[in-house]
Amino acid sequence: MAGTFYFQVVSPEGAVLDADVQFVALPATEGELGILPRHTPLIASLKSGVIRYTVDDEVKKMAISGGFAEVEHNHVTVLAETAELADSIDMMRAEAAKTRAEKRLKDRVSNVDVARAEASLRRAISRLQARK
Ligand code: ATP
Repeated sequence: MAGTFYFQVVSPEGAVLDADVQFVALPATEGELGILPRHTPLIASLKSGVIRYTVDDEVKKMAISGGFAEVEHNHVTVLAETAELADSIDMMRAEAAKTRAEKRLKDRVSNVDVARAEASLRRAISRLQARK
């Protein structure tokens, strides 16, 4: 279809999305990366965040927790550490993970792995943002 390109998201659990899209916005480590058809080829590293993509003029969202994107001619592939489509996100689970991580960071008992708690908090926040 004119004005679209192929967008594929893969996680260690398998293919999460295969779609013809009009636009994709990726949470790159350098800042948000917007991609339209015939974008210049590139490779970007991704952080935890929300991917927005447009299918048939409808904006959809998914959450990822880091990975890489490869942009080729009319073909964008994301290899994500974890990836969930908005509809498949369990809000209560993400809320619980957020509360748990916040408590660990607040209490700072001696054996808390701060980096791990921060990463968990970022994943939970991304899931909540993608779902709302
Ligand atoms: P939790 O503590 O709730 O397990 P987590 O951030 O530690 O959260 P991850 O290790 O990032 O979880 O993910 C483990 C698997 O569970 C992945 O397949 C991920 O896609 C899935 N997952 C995690 N949280 C959710 C959620 N809220 N809704 C749907 N799937 C989720």
